[in-house]
Amino acid sequence: MQRRNFLKKSGLTTVGILSASSLTSCKPDNKAIPATQTVNRPTVICTWNFSNASAKAWEVLKVGGNALDAVEKGVMVEENDVNNQTVGVGGRPDRDGKVTLDACIMDKDGNCGAVLAMQNIANPIAVARKVMEKTPHVMLAGKGAEQFALEEGFKKTDLLTEKSKQEWLEWKKTSNYETPINIENHDTIGMLALDKNGNFAGACTTSGMAYKMAGRVGDSPIIGAGLFVDNEIGAATATGVGEEVVRTVGSFLIVELMRQGKSPQEACEEGVQRILEKNKGRKDFQIGFIAMNKAGETGSYCIHPGFTYRKYNDGGHDNVPSQSFYS
Ligand code: ASP
Repeated sequence: MQRRNFLKKSGLTTVGILSASSLTSCKPDNKAIPATQTVNRPTVICTWNFSNASAKAWEVLKVGGNALDAVEKGVMVEENDVNNQTVGVGGRPDRDGKVTLDACIMDKDGNCGAVLAMQNIANPIAVARKVMEKTPHVMLAGKGAEQFALEEGFKKTDLLTEKSKQEWLEWKKTSNYETPINIENHDTIGMLALDKNGNFAGACTTSGMAYKMAGRVGDSPIIGAGLFVDNEIGAATATGVGEEVVRTVGSFLIVELMRQGKSPQEACEEGVQRILEKNKGRKDFQIGFIAMNKAGETGSYCIHPGFTYRKYNDGGHDNVPSQSFYS
């Protein structure tokens, strides 16, 4: 497994303490720290170790920008990174060799927009925001999403890089055209931000499961599953095998658990637990959530049932992912 640890410090803050959380977990030599800490706002957290993305979001927040701009600009860093094979340009294709992207965005007022299985457009999160702001709809899929993006001035882009193409060709040689449930071929970026006015926004964007069936859509562009924001309570976003997150309406569940009084950490753990209960004995999948509440407390939890976790003296363990704080 190649989960990466994420510890970074910078002297950026003039507005409080920036929190960047990372779903690092799942690696035996991770140095975990206690998962629930309270921070001052504004705050931004994201899945995995996408530190360039959270740093970009922080550039917006630290000068008083709003959470919606922060999450859009933040996740676009990964969408534009051709070396990131799980988001945006350079993402791994479906089993027919086509890169199809999913994304959604949600603001403080419950407005939301999403694109599903969209091809040829490099920044699905920006298209999702346009869907939210300029159409009467919440979701546009496939050709319709692409057509809308082109009408909005987005450029047609070949999303399949040579690297991802060669890997796909290799996969085809031995795969028997069977989509793998591979815990390591999908790392969505989900990002949550709280701005200086105490308002939330969230964004989630992915190329989805590598070598998926044509037309497959996971949780990431589904409001309530891959992302949910409730400005009264908090926000949550997911990564991992999307089918399982959809089956539990995962991100909505986590926000509702926080509404009932659970901390973000407790809510993430219970959300994962619900999924485990539906998958007794299954070991081939990975699920992770991150969450933040109105107080700026954060939580994150990731599990891969086939993996034996190790505890640490400082209170964390491998499936309580580290949270790294900028200060
Ligand atoms: N949730 C994404 C999907 O199922 C993939 C991931 O986050 O790893 O498409």
